[in-house]
Amino acid sequence: MPFENNLGDAGRRQFLRKLSGLAALAAVTPALLPMRAFAKEAEMVIKGPPVKDIPATQISGHVWVIISPDGFANPQNQGMMSNITFVLTKEGVVVLDSGASLQIGEMALRQLKKITDKPVIAVINSHYHGDHWLGNHAFVNAYPDIPIYAHPKTIAAIRQGGQGDHWKNLMERATDNASIGTIVTAPNKEVDHGSELKFGDVTLRIHHYGTAHTPADICMEVVEDKVVHVGDVAMDRRIAFMEDGSYLGTFKTFDALEKNVPGSLWLPGHGEPGPDVIKHNRELFDGIFQSCVQAVKEMKSFEEAKSMVLADPRVKKWAPVTKGFNENIGSYTSLAYLEAEQSAF
Ligand SMILES: [Zn+2]
Repeated sequence: MPFENNLGDAGRRQFLRKLSGLAALAAVTPALLPMRAFAKEAEMVIKGPPVKDIPATQISGHVWVIISPDGFANPQNQGMMSNITFVLTKEGVVVLDSGASLQIGEMALRQLKKITDKPVIAVINSHYHGDHWLGNHAFVNAYPDIPIYAHPKTIAAIRQGGQGDHWKNLMERATDNASIGTIVTAPNKEVDHGSELKFGDVTLRIHHYGTAHTPADICMEVVEDKVVHVGDVAMDRRIAFMEDGSYLGTFKTFDALEKNVPGSLWLPGHGEPGPDVIKHNRELFDGIFQSCVQAVKEMKSFEEAKSMVLADPRVKKWAPVTKGFNENIGSYTSLAYLEAEQSAF
């Protein structure tokens, strides 16, 4: 392809799109392209390259985590933006959130083989954002019959609600097609608040307290270890995507978790696990939401509310170390302002 060498990022994306078109054309009339070149290019289109290994770290008796250094997808990290967790039980391995692509799921499987010979016996997805479930494809490839658990509303959002293709496409665009080849593989078994799953010597208890980060987040308690995987309900030094979420719902979920599983190690979908993850995230969200409540009380405009948010000492404390803060604080403040207005009536 003569135009291949001088492509920028946008050009490369366009090239790959063109190539998909060519591949379709060539399927009908294979003589149009030299076969060898076509096979090589087609492979690139059908499946993006492997993702760099990130070894898993043990955080408790049964729990190991691949901690993602990045919080957002880009062509360099190939979409590696969220944590993947392994719960090692006597029966086999349970995977909590499977990563953002087929390639990331395959990378996770490579890391798992370094720590155990046991098979994967289940996957659980915390919510419908694609960085937490697109990797399901890799686990189903390796273990065709494994159950994949999620909240019923998460399953519906991926299967019928458009979140499946939406996230697959979003990830392809964000990674410059590195995630290509990933097939939407929706969860197939329902769990809800109070569900308990027993795997050998480990009990996983499911918590759901209504809309928080999305309408269907589940938090997964590894009972014997006092570890709770909180999905994206709380994050460590990364701002949450709040478009489908609720600040008040998030506070309600924080309260319930701290009351029902006190003294836990909180394992977030993004960032490092720790005993203070919820406390820290609450501080940032309090700074955003309470500033908006105050602004609404004083009949201030949204612009004034935003200034109040940015001046809040809790926000000032966390903003410099929170990934995605500058890019998202405007839109997430407007959501907080809207929710503060609604709750004032
Ligand atoms: Zn999320």
